[in-house]
Formats: sequence, structure tokens, C-alpha cells
Amino acid sequence: EAQSFDAIVIGAGAAGLFCAAQAGALGLRVLVLDHAKKLAEKIRISGGGRCNFTNRDLDVRQPQQHFISDNPHFCRSALSRFTPQHFTSLLQSHGIAFHEKHKGQLFCDHSAQDVITMLQGLCAQAGVKIWNPCEVHSVVRQEGEAHQERFVLTTSLGAVQSAAVVVATGGLSIPKIGATDLGYRIAAQFAIPLIARRPGLVPLTFASSDWATYVGLAGLAMPVDIATGQGKNKTQFKEDLLFTHRGLSGPAILQISNYWQPGTPIAINLLPEMDVLTALLEAKRDSKRLLANVLAQWLPARLVEVMVAQQPQWLRAIDQVPDKALTALAQQLQAWQITPSGTEGYAKAEVTLGGVDTRALSSKTMESSVQPDLYFIGEVVDVTGWLGGYNFQWAWASAYACAQAMADK
Ligand code: FAD
Repeated sequence: EAQSFDAIVIGAGAAGLFCAAQAGALGLRVLVLDHAKKLAEKIRISGGGRCNFTNRDLDVRQPQQHFISDNPHFCRSALSRFTPQHFTSLLQSHGIAFHEKHKGQLFCDHSAQDVITMLQGLCAQAGVKIWNPCEVHSVVRQEGEAHQERFVLTTSLGAVQSAAVVVATGGLSIPKIGATDLGYRIAAQFAIPLIARRPGLVPLTFASSDWATYVGLAGLAMPVDIATGQGKNKTQFKEDLLFTHRGLSGPAILQISNYWQPGTPIAINLLPEMDVLTALLEAKRDSKRLLANVLAQWLPARLVEVMVAQQPQWLRAIDQVPDKALTALAQQLQAWQITPSGTEGYAKAEVTLGGVDTRALSSKTMESSVQPDLYFIGEVVDVTGWLGGYNFQWAWASAYACAQAMADK
């Protein structure tokens, strides 16, 4: 006879552990299964080891502005019921110190391990069982005693059964620490539609012929404005850009990568705080300095060197350069248009865009509307946040909604 639980959570990451702890605390008998040897590895490596666990700027009345989904308003219900303040209060009650770094981003003072230890402690306190490493071979729905439907899971540690199953297997990014497509396969098996998946919060790459000029800039970082899309689909960020050997990265690129459509350009303003044309025309009136030296006042010297190598006319005295050429230069610096050839893929992506179609889930409970007692939470769902703690906030909030709903049944 298979061991029996009220709920089985597949995936002991951010969403799975938090959901299990809440459901256990509300009186449910919960089992968590994970194939990884070490739990919650993504929390451990997140935020450079300090876990950017939420974002204070999340507006719970309009959270959709910080999230991408085929069904933009879906995330609102859960995010408004479990807010960043709820999570920070929880950390405070466990004596975990944190600080704000940039644009509302909250990080642990000490280490991401503090969050993992807290989640494991909450699970232990709530009597949650965690089995790992444990492979999940199959999930089937069967009629049990008294014609009650139950889920039966066969696993590498034996068969288990439960009234409810929560899929919290995360996205496809960083396969080397345990990401798999199991959650999407379970959705497909139960006829739950999926939105196409692609890497998100990911560095962008360029054809080597386009990039040869810039390879020498690898490591250079600078603040920029970055945009992609046209008209009402235009999206813009003000963040740091980082040159790499294969292309561009840094927060500016990671943010824009969630919105970038293959084949389309991105536009970068390398001098967002100034009106370059006016400044160039003023410099031309007032001096006979080399154009390259004028530019070096505003731009990193390495970048100016690369630009001069491309266009030796910049080694002329600025008063010798026609206004038309200065206009073209200003345009190039303030609206540099460049078309990526692709992304660094799941090996380097922080998240997966797309996933379980939210139209098939209840926004209040995360339960499938066609398969009662089957829930999807966290990144496996087609809700992807901006860089800056929004993805963990979605994991906590969707987990909380699911745990409450299971306990209320
Ligand atoms: P996960 O935390 O990925 O957990 C999924 C769990 O399911 C894992 O334990 C995995 O082992 C298990 N699993 C998968 N497949 C199977 C299977 N077949 N059988 C059994 N178990 C399985 N977000 C932020 O908000 N702030 C940050 O600072 C941040 N930094 C990041 C840095 C990096 C390098 C990366 C890759 C991501 C970062 N993220 C950050 C994103 C964030 O980590 C995820 O959005 C979040 O962990 C998703 O939570 P989850 O519980 O849905 O999935």
C-alpha cells in the first residue's frame, strides 16, 4: 500500500518549500519530492549568493507592470494577497538581516543560505516530509476508496498517493543544477496547455562578423537607456550595460531580453544623461580639440578607441568636422541600433519565459480548472518577473495562494 498524504509537492525549490511549509502549518500532511541531492540550489546561487528575495517597488495594485505573461492580469490576485512586506516580516521574525541595493531590490546581508535554512526550518516545524534525491517516474489519477479520486506517484523511493499534487518544478534555466521539463510534461499529460518557452533574463549574442569590432571591450560596463519594440509595444529600461566576448549583458540587457523578439533590433543610448548633438556643436564653436578627445570626456576611453579605429575621421579637430557628420555621430551614440543574433540560452538564463498557460489555472488558487486538485506554482507557470527579486516574489505569492486553497478544501 502506497504511503498516503494530503498533498505532494514536486520540486523543493523556492515555491515548493514555501508552499509545503504553509500547507503543513495549516494542518495538511505534506510530502515534497525533489530529484536533486541539494535542495533549493537556485536560491543558493541567486543574487550573487545573497538572494534578491523580493522587491519593495512592486505595486500590488498593478503588479503586472513588472511581470510578463500571455495573460497579464493573472498574477495580480496572488501578488496582492502575499506581498513583499509579508515576506520581509517573515525574514525579520527569523532574525534574518537584509538591505535594499538598487531600485527596491532586497538582498540578505549575510547569505542566501539564510533563506534556505528558514524555509527548511518552517517545513520541519510544520511536519513536512522531504524526500530527496527522489526521481518521479509517473503521476496518475486513480479512483480510490469510496470512489474518491487520488493521485498515485511512482518514484525511485516507492509509490506514494495523495489527494492533491502541486507542481513546483521551476523553469529550464541552468540544467546543470537540476532544471528539467517534468512540470511541462505533467501539464501536457493532463491536457493543460503550454505557452511556448524561451530563455529570459539572458545575455544577448551577435554574429561574430558584427561583433569582431567590440570584442576588445569585454568587461566594460556603463549606464545606458535601452529599448526594444515599436509604438505601444516599446519597452525601455535605464540600467547598466556590460560588454562581453560574445555580445552584451548586464542588467540592461537581462531586462530587455524578456521583451526582445528574435530578428528585431535593440536601441541603446550610450549617453542617456545628455543631449549629445548640442554638446558637440557647443564644443565645435568653442575649441579646436580633437573630436576623439571631446568624446573621451563623456565616454569610457576604451570605447572611444574602438570607435576611432572604425572611423578615423574622429581624429580630426572638431571644428573641421561638418555639422552633418556630428549629427550622425550623435545619433549613433544616442540611438545605437544593433540586432542580436540570439541569446546565451538556458545555460546562462536566469528564468524561463512561457510555461503553463494561466488561462487553464485559477488566479486565486493556482489549481487547474480542468483537473481538480492539480496545482502549478512558481516559475513553471507562464508568469515571469523583471530582474530584481520579482521572480522570487511570484514563487512566494503563488505558493501561498495554493497552500491556502488546499487547506480550505
Ligand atoms: P526552483 O527554485 O528552480 O525549484 C525547482 C525545483 O524543482 C528544484 O529544486 C529542482 O531540483 C526540482 N525539480 C526540477 N525537475 C525535477 C524533477 N524532474 N523531479 C524532481 N524535482 C525536480 N530570482 C529573483 O527573484 N531574485 C534573484 O536574485 C534571482 N537570481 C537568480 C540567479 C540565477 C543564476 C538564476 C538561475 C535564477 C535567479 N532567479 C532570481 C530566478 C529564481 O531563482 C527562480 O525564478 C525561482 O527559483 C523559481 O522558483 P521555483 O520554486 O518555481 O523553481
